[in-house]
Amino acid sequence: MASGKHQSILTRFPPEPNGYLHVGHAKSICLNFGLAQKYGGKTNLRFDDTNPVKEDVEYVDSIKEDVRWLGFEWAGEYYASDYFDPLYEWACVLIRKGLAYVDDQTQEEIRTMRGTVTQPGQNSPYRNRTIEENHHLFTRMKNGDFSDGEKVLRAKIDMAHPNMLMRDPILYRIIHAEHHRTGNKWCIYPMYDYAHGQSDSIERITHSICTLEFDVHRPLYDWFIEKLGIFPSRQYEFARLNLTYTIMSKRNLLELVKQGYVSGWDDPRMPTICGMRRRGYTPESIRLFADKIGVAKHDNVIELSLLEWCVRDDLNRRAMRRMAVLDPLKIVITNYPEGLTEDIDAVNNPEDESAGKRKTPFCRELYIERNDFMENPPKKYFRLSPGGEVRLRYAYIIKCEEVIKNATGDIVELHCTYDPETRSGSGSARQVKGTIHWVSIPHAQRAEVRLFDRLFTEAHMDAIPEGKNYTDFFNPDSLCTVAAFVEPALKGLPPLTHVQFERLGYFTVDLDSTLDHPVFNRTVTLKDTWAKVKQLNIGS
Ligand code: ATP
Ligand code: MG
Repeated sequence: MASGKHQSILTRFPPEPNGYLHVGHAKSICLNFGLAQKYGGKTNLRFDDTNPVKEDVEYVDSIKEDVRWLGFEWAGEYYASDYFDPLYEWACVLIRKGLAYVDDQTQEEIRTMRGTVTQPGQNSPYRNRTIEENHHLFTRMKNGDFSDGEKVLRAKIDMAHPNMLMRDPILYRIIHAEHHRTGNKWCIYPMYDYAHGQSDSIERITHSICTLEFDVHRPLYDWFIEKLGIFPSRQYEFARLNLTYTIMSKRNLLELVKQGYVSGWDDPRMPTICGMRRRGYTPESIRLFADKIGVAKHDNVIELSLLEWCVRDDLNRRAMRRMAVLDPLKIVITNYPEGLTEDIDAVNNPEDESAGKRKTPFCRELYIERNDFMENPPKKYFRLSPGGEVRLRYAYIIKCEEVIKNATGDIVELHCTYDPETRSGSGSARQVKGTIHWVSIPHAQRAEVRLFDRLFTEAHMDAIPEGKNYTDFFNPDSLCTVAAFVEPALKGLPPLTHVQFERLGYFTVDLDSTLDHPVFNRTVTLKDTWAKVKQLNIGS
């Protein structure tokens, strides 16, 4: 770094490649990259790959894909495992300074000797080994002369320190396992606290942003910098993101996948970035969400409905409006000429004039939504009922003349008449209160539509009662698949296309979708029906 020059900001996003990224990571990504962008700095992507047992290249690739998809490009791509050599050298420096020692105690012994918050710990019987002996033993640890757990390297700080993390923390442990990048070169691996801060220093990170629970690690972070005399990176802590109805630990998310609760990491109900992408979330909506929640210095739980508000806000501007019927009821317009098809003008997006119009076919036989008809409607019901009138979106006013039922009394179709003078855009003065959507039966395409609900039934998954497991709150109704009919303009769309099904919500073409078997995921409903349901519950 040029001396005397004002130092620019360098941040890093440091995922451990042991799972797919989730919306909590998205917040961290937006914070790290956003801060650097704001102050003209840069951000590194660093894989914190110091535990060979849980990590995998599959995760490395998915993490890179997700960061890019969110709209960020990193300055450098690094791996903590690239620093195993200097980290080892620095461990030797600490040994030579009398600040680290090899301990033969078992994990259990180390734990009990560490004391408690109220009681000081006790020194290990191996704490006073000579520098030479420590150096010799550490070299042998590295050379593979010992088996897993036989020895560890510890910092020599203070076993009575009020901060338990300062009571001779472990720096290295022995793990005879192949690492996804360094292969079998190493059988000793650095602990998080030792590797993380020093990796920051190597990269000359100025702002090392982490979550609040790491504030107790900061004295140790600073201790290494001071004792080794290395680049003074600084750690800053912010509240982690918690969301209602959501769990965010990679370990738990992995279990959901392995135990088959969900179809995979990218199941659209998952709070993973790939799941949200498949569900129909946009990078813009997630960045907007990160912006709205900002940075807090205290842990809190954010309402999932805020995230949903963000995606609605974004999709409202960009999603094409289309018509689809999820629960079809056939209607026949008895006074409409048989064999005639009209191409009706339909607006693509009222929020965006440049999106223009499309033609959608109208004919004698149509599907409407079953719940847009009621045989015995209450007052102020503005949809279709016997003898009542309603406007078919973009088309005509129709009147329900006859309700046809089968032998068991189920309604199978409606016979209606239409008023040819009332076509939308024709300047007709006649008005009705309700407008409903529809699709033309002979032109409609069948489609599978997946409707989602919260993955968990409990809002505060961060505080589930003792003795309960988070899977006890799995919502068995979180996925509901329906056979729908969609208008021709919805045929052949590529996966991840966003659309609005009028009156039903925002939907996205699923990755499973094919030309013959289109599949749509509901990203979010048009309104926050959940909030309403909650109000009703409170009232009842
Ligand atoms: P998890 O507990 O979900 O496995 P983690 O913290 O172990 O998460 P890492 O891969 O170590 O996952 O995290 C990478 C970065 O993302 C870290 O800087 C971490 O602080 C941040 N991060 C992880 N979860 C959240 C969250 N819920 N909110 C904000 N930042 C988070
Ligand atoms: Mg972690």
